[in-house]
Amino acid sequence: MHKATEFRLEAHPLIPEALGRLEELANDLFYSWDHGVRSLFARIDLRLWQKVEHNPKLFLRRVAQDRLDEAADDRAFLAEYRRVLSSYDAYLEAGPGSEVTEKLDPETALVAYFCAEFGFHESFPIYSGGLGILAGDHCKAASDLALPFVAIGLLYQQGYFIQSIDAQGQQIARYRSHSSDELPITPLERDGEVLRVSVPFPERDVVARVWEARVGHIRLYLLDSNTEENSPEDRKLTLQLYGGDESTRISQEMLLGIGGTRVLEALGLKPTAWHINEGHAAFQIIERCRQAMAAGLNFEAALEAVAGATLFTTHTPVAAGHDIFSRGLVQEALGRYLEESGLDFEKVFALGAKDNGDTFNMTSLGLRGSRFHNGVSRIHGGVASRMEGDIWPQVPPEENPLGYITNGVHVPTFLAPEWSSLFDIQAPTWKSELRNPTFWEFIDQIPDYHYWSVHKSLKQQMGEYIVRQLKRQHKRNGTGHSVTERMTRQLVSTEKDTLVIGFARRFATYKRATLIFSDLDRLEQIITNADRPVVLVFAGKAHPQDKPGQQLIRVIHDLSMHPSLMGHVILLEDYDQAMARRLLSGVDVWLNTPEYPKEASGTSGEKAALNGALNLSVLDGWWGEGYNGKNGWAIPPRDTEMDAEFRNQEEARDLLDLLEFEVVPLYYERASQGYSKGWVKRSKASMKTITPQFNSQRMVMDYVTDYYQTASSQGARLTADGGEMATALSDWKARVREAWPGVEISVVGCVDSRCPHDGSVALSVEARLNGLSADDVRVECLVSPECTGTHKNPGPPSFFLERESEADGRTVFATQVQPSYPGLQTLRLRMYPYHEALTHPLEMGAMLWV
Ligand SMILES: *Cc1c(COP(=O)(O)O)cnc(C)c1O
Repeated sequence: MHKATEFRLEAHPLIPEALGRLEELANDLFYSWDHGVRSLFARIDLRLWQKVEHNPKLFLRRVAQDRLDEAADDRAFLAEYRRVLSSYDAYLEAGPGSEVTEKLDPETALVAYFCAEFGFHESFPIYSGGLGILAGDHCKAASDLALPFVAIGLLYQQGYFIQSIDAQGQQIARYRSHSSDELPITPLERDGEVLRVSVPFPERDVVARVWEARVGHIRLYLLDSNTEENSPEDRKLTLQLYGGDESTRISQEMLLGIGGTRVLEALGLKPTAWHINEGHAAFQIIERCRQAMAAGLNFEAALEAVAGATLFTTHTPVAAGHDIFSRGLVQEALGRYLEESGLDFEKVFALGAKDNGDTFNMTSLGLRGSRFHNGVSRIHGGVASRMEGDIWPQVPPEENPLGYITNGVHVPTFLAPEWSSLFDIQAPTWKSELRNPTFWEFIDQIPDYHYWSVHKSLKQQMGEYIVRQLKRQHKRNGTGHSVTERMTRQLVSTEKDTLVIGFARRFATYKRATLIFSDLDRLEQIITNADRPVVLVFAGKAHPQDKPGQQLIRVIHDLSMHPSLMGHVILLEDYDQAMARRLLSGVDVWLNTPEYPKEASGTSGEKAALNGALNLSVLDGWWGEGYNGKNGWAIPPRDTEMDAEFRNQEEARDLLDLLEFEVVPLYYERASQGYSKGWVKRSKASMKTITPQFNSQRMVMDYVTDYYQTASSQGARLTADGGEMATALSDWKARVREAWPGVEISVVGCVDSRCPHDGSVALSVEARLNGLSADDVRVECLVSPECTGTHKNPGPPSFFLERESEADGRTVFATQVQPSYPGLQTLRLRMYPYHEALTHPLEMGAMLWV
């Protein structure tokens, strides 16, 4: 039979004048956190809104004209429309507070934020997981604070994959192309033309066109290689996030780093602080060096000038999270660009060389090309300091310049509107008190029954959502109706109000999604108890090349289909931000069992806590700081030196003990009121302690205070007067590097001594400076009650020794030390190179101890 060709025709509606600004709302990611905007679309046509997966632009293209016309005639709708617009306008009008302007002058300062993925909303699928969502939250908070801020990323036409899980538990990855007119972006035009930048690639230039995404006060610029100037292969460079092979990856990173910097240049923007969020974007350092060299500096001085204005954030201690390229690949990919730029390959390669090997590590490049560096939680900061310690080889890791800022989440995005309405009544100014822990004591004033009813209603919505998803998923897989009924039985039973535990995140093996199943018999007894049932809900994607990650999905799928666990273990497919909001606001407990210390921060538990869920997690990442003994449950990690299998068993036993003896009994300890008072108390303790501490406003203000402000001033200092200071600094460093291997220090005489508590002892050190002068170094004495230091705490009291005399190539430094402590104390003496233009006194990584 002959099949007719189908032609597509899309008749898009005309927006009535009364609703003229709907398009503007659809083009500002403000909608991704403003519930009011989203409900306008939902009110016009709820079915369509769900069908287009909450995508405002697609919605406006597909909505029936009648519906729009009706809305334009509906007084109640118009009133709501005007209310939403006026709050939007008020948001855009509000300028930065003095707290910001004192640190970053909006007239001159500008922060440029580079990242490979951004997760704002499910309608804009250019993210894969935590890193992207975090970058989205960072931008949203920057907008809320009205920071001078611009973000740079890539536009992936297909984004990350869409996941289905088939009847055998296999993950099926599908990609869908998104046309630009269904995404919240517009072409960025300059002088009537779409802005394009080009980047030298081997034997050709690759052109990227530029898109603009509005995020309230700030802008995100996205580069896209899918343009007619490029060859068909090059057009596909930005097709998929984390797709393709190594060569695709390095090409994407050249577009992001080099192309992204060129976009800012073309726009005439002059960032004063540059934030590289994870190694993928680190090539911007090289392009900025090229620019500085074009302005007259040599490579070394250019690097100083660039690095002094740059912050690099590392996000994971897991090897797969770091891009490592072979020498051959780097030479091939960057060769022509470097040659045309007058940059020396060996010098550039040395910036990324790891462990003196022949590989190029983007994290090492990020660290060597920046003077500000951080990890994303206290634990991770310590781990990263040790892992990356070779950048500062002679400096003890706890003193090297790698600090931390703990990740936080964007409250308006992840807090369910039901909670936010309750807060509006209880504490109307809560939105401007996000960083004030005392203010959040108001949570205790909410009557327990009211508190619980909000949670219960959200949980019910989640239950209905899960049932819908499961039915759709299993209908497609051909699962029988009676089976699906059994699967969803626990969730729909309202009389029981079953305890629901959620676990959803990327299925990477270090996250140990199956840890809870380590002792199946015991788990089964705990969760299938008819009086105290428990439901475990799982969701997450595994990277298409991560076979062990996909195996985890299969294991959980099989368990969910097993007759004895059916209905108590549920696996949902295609985890995205929409599902995250549902699960995180509906579950009772949020579970996280990473292999310590690999969860750099984790953020989903923070989102759960905002919504009253209790965290049950390994003390890793943010939870190491968040847990206070009363606001959730913690599994202490076992010593990492132990056998992995043994650690898993021990931690799994702790987990089941907590479940059996604490979590389940507390949840079901119900009196006549129908809910557990003890549970509500714990949940309130969690909400009020975690919300003001782990939100993205606190996080971004920490970045402003600790890094953006100093990077702006340090960058300006180094580049002033044609980069005079950068040149002086790089010349000085070259001199120090040359001389340092021949430098020696020793103590003069014996320092072991005694003195009365108000007396002092003389201390002197003799140094062979090998051509350096006394002004090039600092000689320091550290005094401590014992010989330990903890990470980045204000160190022990210290004294500098002054130059006393110089003869025969020997310099003597001396001082009088008064005892800092009563009784016995330890003195340690050391010397390191010092120059006033340094960003961090230990940035050279050179240090000698007596
Ligand atoms: C918050 C979030 C993540 C990060 O979850 P972790 O548990 O921190 O890894 C991943 N995906 C989505 C959709 C999220 O909203």
